[in-house]
Amino acid sequence: MAQPGIPAARGAAAGLQAQNGAASASGSPYTNGPVQNTLMSSQVSSSQGYDSQLPGSYPRLMPAKTLTPFSAQSNFGGSQGSGQTLNRPLVASNPVPPPVHSGPPRMPLSTSQNPAATPMPSGSFLPGANPPPPLNWQYNYPSTGPQTNHFPHVAQPTVSGNTNLTADHQYVSSGDPSLQTSFIKPGSALPLQNPPLPTTFQPGAPLGPPPAGGLPPDRGLRPQKTPPRAALPPSLNPAVNQEGITAIANNGSMVAHSTYDEIEGGGFLATPQPINQNSKPSRSVGYAYPSLPPGYHNTAPPSAAGLPPSSLNYPSGPQAFTQTPLGANHLTASMSGLSLHPEGLRVVNLLQERNMLPSTPLQPPVPNLHEDIQKLNCNPELFRCTLTGIPQTQALLNKAKLPLGLLLHPFKDLVQLPVVTSSTIVRCRSCRTYINPFVNFLDQRRWKCNLCYRVNDVPEEFMYNPLTRVYGEPHKRPEVQNATIEFMAPSEYMLRPPQPPVYLFVFDVSHNAIETGYLSSVCQSLLDNLDLLPGNTRTKIGFMTFDSTIHFYSLQEGLSQPQMLVVSDIDDVFIPMPENLLVNLNESKELVQDLLKTLPQMFAKTLETQSALGPALQAAFKLISPTGGRMSVFQTQLPTLGVGALKPREEPNQRSSAKEIHLTPSTDFYKKLALDCSGQQAAVDLFLLSGQYSDLASLGCISRYSAGSVYYYPSYHHQHNPVQVQKLQKELQRYLTRKIGFEAVMRIRCTKGLSIHTFHGNFFVRSTDLLSLPNVNPDAGYAVQMSVEESLTDTQLVSFQSALLYTSSKGERRIRVHTLCLPVVSTLNEVFLGADVQAISGLLANMAVDRSVTASLSDARDALVNAVIDSLSAYRSSVLSGQQPGLMVPFSLRLFPLFVLALLKQKSFQTGTNARLDERIFAMCQVKNQPLVHLMRTTHPSLYRVDNLSDEGALNINDRTIPQPPILQLSVEKLSRDGAFLMDAGSVLMLWVGKNCAQNFLSQVLGVQNYASIPQTMTDLPELDTPESARTITFISWLREQRPFFPILYVIREESLMKAAFLQKLVEDRTESALSYYEFLLHIQQQVNK
Ligand SMILES: [Zn+2]
Repeated sequence: MAQPGIPAARGAAAGLQAQNGAASASGSPYTNGPVQNTLMSSQVSSSQGYDSQLPGSYPRLMPAKTLTPFSAQSNFGGSQGSGQTLNRPLVASNPVPPPVHSGPPRMPLSTSQNPAATPMPSGSFLPGANPPPPLNWQYNYPSTGPQTNHFPHVAQPTVSGNTNLTADHQYVSSGDPSLQTSFIKPGSALPLQNPPLPTTFQPGAPLGPPPAGGLPPDRGLRPQKTPPRAALPPSLNPAVNQEGITAIANNGSMVAHSTYDEIEGGGFLATPQPINQNSKPSRSVGYAYPSLPPGYHNTAPPSAAGLPPSSLNYPSGPQAFTQTPLGANHLTASMSGLSLHPEGLRVVNLLQERNMLPSTPLQPPVPNLHEDIQKLNCNPELFRCTLTGIPQTQALLNKAKLPLGLLLHPFKDLVQLPVVTSSTIVRCRSCRTYINPFVNFLDQRRWKCNLCYRVNDVPEEFMYNPLTRVYGEPHKRPEVQNATIEFMAPSEYMLRPPQPPVYLFVFDVSHNAIETGYLSSVCQSLLDNLDLLPGNTRTKIGFMTFDSTIHFYSLQEGLSQPQMLVVSDIDDVFIPMPENLLVNLNESKELVQDLLKTLPQMFAKTLETQSALGPALQAAFKLISPTGGRMSVFQTQLPTLGVGALKPREEPNQRSSAKEIHLTPSTDFYKKLALDCSGQQAAVDLFLLSGQYSDLASLGCISRYSAGSVYYYPSYHHQHNPVQVQKLQKELQRYLTRKIGFEAVMRIRCTKGLSIHTFHGNFFVRSTDLLSLPNVNPDAGYAVQMSVEESLTDTQLVSFQSALLYTSSKGERRIRVHTLCLPVVSTLNEVFLGADVQAISGLLANMAVDRSVTASLSDARDALVNAVIDSLSAYRSSVLSGQQPGLMVPFSLRLFPLFVLALLKQKSFQTGTNARLDERIFAMCQVKNQPLVHLMRTTHPSLYRVDNLSDEGALNINDRTIPQPPILQLSVEKLSRDGAFLMDAGSVLMLWVGKNCAQNFLSQVLGVQNYASIPQTMTDLPELDTPESARTITFISWLREQRPFFPILYVIREESLMKAAFLQKLVEDRTESALSYYEFLLHIQQQVNK
């Protein structure tokens, strides 16, 4: 049993079994309490082997069995012994007729009428029209204690906010002492005692071996390790040039810079885009505070000249260190940057001003910081906070009734990124924060940590600035000039040699799968992109297929063609010839190409309808676990055989009900296997291509907990649904070639006094705050919730820092660090003024997904509505003086009701008959895993009129002129029959053409004679030699380029099947089951003014 490479599997399974049994009584499948020690002990033993067996090479620890067993019972190579070539015998042991599968591509069901035109009794459909007792979505305030149960308030052993200190010693809670010494602060080996509260859906228990090079051990109590060698001048990576370092000087609108891809490679060519195409330096989201507390009044006027040097404005040379202690200096710095924007101070009556949607993309608010600080701040696309003014106490936060949290896109493709190679990475000795632009230099030799306030020494090496080649300028080092930076990690950041890139592909080849025709698409895509897979000479690749049996492919160098090996014992899966199944891509490239060319035909005549997905995943796990890596699993139906088999659960007539019953997994098999994968540094990406219910709620766990991604192509069919084929191809291209990080961990730290608790995204929480990410990809987003644990009255600034440690596809260990700095505020009005409505809506959406799963969909919907009511009530009663009529909201929250209404109509949370269960689950997966920008676009689409595009105000990028039509409100009122309107809903683009649309547009853009000749199904625009065509196509391609997935374009006319879907997304209008925006406002007003 105790095979060193794969020992945890059964031990862990047993532990989880017990755990889940116990937990099911309380309604939650996932807790991390009782299981931990069971798991830890087995994990520790595995990690012993991990350390000792993996140095340098990756011994194949695989075969738990030798080849003997299958001679007895397994149908290995069709029971004719090994060495079968690719002529696979037809497996016809189960002659079940193929399922009826086909039919036209499914379109969203059409509603019978134009919902916008259907009068409905007002207010009657809103959940909460007769509001249940308020759900009080308390945002995780420790003070509310026991009754808040929607987040795991993992009580931390210390509450200093110094999350690193409390966490590092929890890598390993017990077990092998030798591991403790390397992972644990001496004498503080506390086992994790506090499981998350039962109703959370958060992955919990520490599991798995210590991270392959987790963030380095806490050395808080030891002297910092200084290299014994003489201090060498640090070298910057050659790719970092002066430009790269200084270019991040442009406030939050840092335009991504351009050197990273050259270094990292990986094939994906990030299109250089100005990130804020409308980057006016400050939009009128207000950052001027109307009533300043007394202490604020004596600040310097907001002029750049004559300011005292801010702590970060190092004039030059060592003599610049004149700063006073943190407080006063930063206060000055922070307040002198005020720009009085009357607009931002405005109180808006939403019932009177119904059109608050800006006509250009909504920009994130700019924190109210001195410009010298703000210009160094992290780009909000990478890291942003729901409140850009942090309430100084939890009581103040409680009063505001707004959620406090961070939204991250930590591994986003950056065109330019400073990369530092230095033998000493300077970090705080107490809390391990990386030195960053917001620390204080007390003098040349000492810096004060901005998270825990410890005073640290500046290492000798850091005194030299490689950019200027000047000694004595620690404050000018790139680490102190860039809020986003990457370090090449020295060996102390790894526990084993960096793993090679390993890609394992697992294909469903059942009859159903073959029918869809997906396999040839995928194989072709792989052939096309084989040389672009991120990697190096160590890259390994392997393939498996499965139906009722599991098939492996030997690609051993020297074979004349690939060999197929069939294992039919799916109850006790083993790996034949493990050493030849995952092979070096370079050495076996021809065999790999042979296989990819042959594979689609091999199963063309299969009659096998069964799907043994679970056993296939187990086999894939065994195959990949010696190294870790990425599994890409393609599945087209409900798994029917062996472990992990699932049953249909969807009942179509319950779709309309808000009491969704099957949002939770029906088995914990996929989660357990995902945790095993996570422990071995393997992630699973699931591609589900299915026209039928496939229980994504269960299947998705395999990706969720292993830090993978889920892709979903409902009704994929190579003939009936050609746009899905195009979508899959485009998305595979991105998937196969995008950057990838292996064996990653991420930790988020924050200034003492703040505490991070609930995490959202695809990962596994290894210890209190260490996220385990066997793979990290540039398209994944994360969110966390926070609370204020100690009063922040003594500080004016707080900082947040995320550190992502990963192995690049080139085998380098790297650390990407983002640091965000925000001001602390002391009044409710300031909290409201600094609210970031997009971030708030995004965080609420994440919380609502959890609530849907742990309670119910209607609970989640009510909670969303209550979030608006509670915060606006708080604003009304505490900030506004006197009772004003109408619905008064601070300017910063003017879109809050609209975005929440849009969330209620989003696929994740909508009611109504056209919400298929798998589609809803997929939408929920997207909420949890997408960066904020994509989530918001999916939730509140952008509508443009496009029949009159002009070059006025257009963007000019790389010789392309991209029209920028104004964004319109999402209402049928904005449409007109003589126009054409494009809706960008993130994953889909819909071009609605009015009946009386101008002839010019029809002929010059659509290439048709008249309205009647627009095809029923049109998903592409012809490239015509007209300026109108060029403008439209450029605009659409530009929209598409901005996302990692490929939105299909549908041209919609009066009779189109997609028309209902289009109207459904006009969120300001009433639909069959939801209020119009105006009705929603009336409801909110009623509740607020109670
Ligand atoms: Zn510190």
